[in-house]
Formats: sequence, C-alpha cells, structure tokens
Amino acid sequence: MNQRNYQKEMETIIERNKEDGRVPTLLLHSCCAPCSSYVLEYLSQYFYITVFYYNPNIYPDEEYQKRVIEQQEFIRKFPMKHPVKFIEGDFEKDLFYEKTKGKEQIKEGGERCFLCYELRLEKTAKLAKELSFDYFTTTLSISPLKNAEKLNEIGERLGKTYNIPYLVSDFKKKNGYKRSVEISKEYEMYRQYYCGCVYSKKQRDEEIAAKEENN
Ligand code: SF4
Repeated sequence: MNQRNYQKEMETIIERNKEDGRVPTLLLHSCCAPCSSYVLEYLSQYFYITVFYYNPNIYPDEEYQKRVIEQQEFIRKFPMKHPVKFIEGDFEKDLFYEKTKGKEQIKEGGERCFLCYELRLEKTAKLAKELSFDYFTTTLSISPLKNAEKLNEIGERLGKTYNIPYLVSDFKKKNGYKRSVEISKEYEMYRQYYCGCVYSKKQRDEEIAAKEENN
C-alpha cells in the first residue's frame, strides 16, 4: 500500500483555500515554542491561528511553566502575516497519568506516546468544535521522534468523532525540523533536552549517564 504524503495533502488544502480567497481559522495544538516556530512561520501565511498550549504530560511543574512562557514570548516576538492568538489549556496532570497507566515502562515512541498524542489532540478537537474553528491540528509531527502516521490517524479519527476537519501534516518534511532549529537559535529559545513526561526525562537521563560512562 502506498504511504500517504501528508505534506502534499496539506499543500492541496492550502491551495484550495487560496483559490477560494479564504483565510480559514486554525486551532493549533503546540507542544513547545521550538516546535511551533517553523509551523507558525509556515502556516500563519495561510490561516488565522490560535495556539492551544495543552500539555498535561510535562514534568516537573517548573518545566511546564518554562515552556508556556517560552511559547507566549515567541508568539509575541515573531513577525507573522496573520495575527496569532494564544490559549493555555488546563494543566491536568492526573489525566495524563490515568491515560498512560500501565505503559510507564514503554520506551519513547511506543504505545504510551500514542495515548499521549490522543489525550492532547482530543482536547484540541473538542475546543476547536466548541469555538467553531475551521480546522485543528498539532505541531507534533515536526519532531523526528514523533510518528506522523499515527498522529494523522488519531487526528482524522477525532476529526470524524467531533465533526471538525483535522489538517493533516508532516511538518518535518521540506526541512521543517531544520528550520525550527534555526529559528530557535536565532531567537535564543529554551530548548528542552527531553520530550516532556517524567518517563522520557528518566530515559534521557539514563542515556546521557551511559554515554558519559563510556567516554
Ligand atoms: S515521551 Fe513524549 S509523547 Fe511520549 S508519553 Fe512522554 S511526553 Fe508523551
């Protein structure tokens, strides 16, 4: 079976809206400022975006605060064609632990992450519907460590459930990840060294320690 090209599919949607002279509204779930940088640079040319910062997975609390502040700062500083708004979701840590119960030991990139994507995307879909956005999506597909196919599958399923179009994406295509690193450096952004949850922090800390021991 041919793999779908999500970047191409998104470009087709953008082109169609351009031909119709439409600038649709988009609720964009963002995991952090560095990942949002290229996505906002790219999509704010074609959409009225509201960034939705909903990440109850992040550990510890200070890390969560750091990332929210960085996100708000970036939106304030970065020049965008269409103005970008910001909404912070609730920091519902218990929901994350409930949702991923029993999957604590799974390595980053596995089943626990799929549940984590779903938790964040479902909240975004519900809010997008409630606030009558034209589309919803997430920055998550920009990371080389995130499974774009799984993200799009979950997004499209939730789009059907809540009757709100999911904008498919694979932002790492077209050098999106590289560009996000460039912007992050240019804006001297805080770049975290682990994905977000306590398990990913532990995994990363152990990898770093093992590397140091071998040196
Ligand atoms: S590693 Fe990242 S995506 Fe996976 S569960 Fe933890 S925070 Fe969520």
